Amino acid sequence: MTDFTRRSLLTGAAAITAAAVTSTVGHAPARAAAPAVGKQAPGFYRYRVGDFEITQISDGARTVPMPDGFVKNVSKDQALAALEAAYMPRGQVITPFNPMTVNTGSKLVLIDTGLGPGVGPTLGLLPANMAAAGIDPKAIDIVILSHLHPDHINGLKTADGGLAFPNAEMKVPAVDWAFWMSDENMSKAPEGLMKAYFQQTRKIFAGLTDKVTKYEWAKEVAPGITSIDTNGHTPGHTSFVVASGSERLLVQSDVTNIPELFLRNPDWQVMFDADPVKAAVSRHKFYDMAAAEKALVAGFHFAFPSLGHVEKDGTGYRLAPIAWNAAL
Ligand SMILES: [Zn+2]
Repeated sequence: MTDFTRRSLLTGAAAITAAAVTSTVGHAPARAAAPAVGKQAPGFYRYRVGDFEITQISDGARTVPMPDGFVKNVSKDQALAALEAAYMPRGQVITPFNPMTVNTGSKLVLIDTGLGPGVGPTLGLLPANMAAAGIDPKAIDIVILSHLHPDHINGLKTADGGLAFPNAEMKVPAVDWAFWMSDENMSKAPEGLMKAYFQQTRKIFAGLTDKVTKYEWAKEVAPGITSIDTNGHTPGHTSFVVASGSERLLVQSDVTNIPELFLRNPDWQVMFDADPVKAAVSRHKFYDMAAAEKALVAGFHFAFPSLGHVEKDGTGYRLAPIAWNAAL
């Protein structure tokens, strides 16, 4: 111990003792009388990629008992053991939802919109957290949807059925649009989850079908934002490269659902994957690229602020979440 630090510590200790004596002798004892706040803090996190300013915005998180068949190709015990290893509440799965905005300097872009209004107190928080982040929904120029599942599209609409981002151009993956808007596909879809997806897509886009722009893969869909084919989760599921200057961010969208299960075990099949075999191929391709590049990856269902780096780890991968950085 240097003399300097030793003296600082001793001075500090003496000060604490003196304060304790003063509070019990000279004054009334300190009391913690402030009421508990009783609600969570706003959820947004800001960072830069090159000249772009990006804000991850929490739409909330859902905690539910893990449904049977959540992972289709391993036993329920194996899946539960993986959740326990990730310190989730016993038997429960926590799924976060994290849209993001990219301010390119010329355009303010929102990627995915969350669960929308009326789904419960811990969900559909995008509008509130966007307001806390100082972002006006009217200022969004472009909404890009990665795929047309409800947790990504429902937030396009307000509770009264209006447009949540009234001035934004809406961009949808052409392949997903063709798939979900096909009457033939809808009639063939099994009852349950798949049928519900078709119905919800039609409900959200009712009256908007002429207003969306369909985008292709390997194209710039907004300044500096390029679409990548990562199909499987849905037929048109899309990830993105956000590039500015020499910096790149990979936006995985739903290449995996929660990483604790499906990034660690890329061949595990989540119940939501439309084509589980193609989804697994996309996972390996995407994470091999991310690991080779040592790229920063944003994941819609990663724990907030939903950013990390991906490394190869045995037959799977490991996500190393970023540390909070107070500097932009
Ligand atoms: Zn999703």
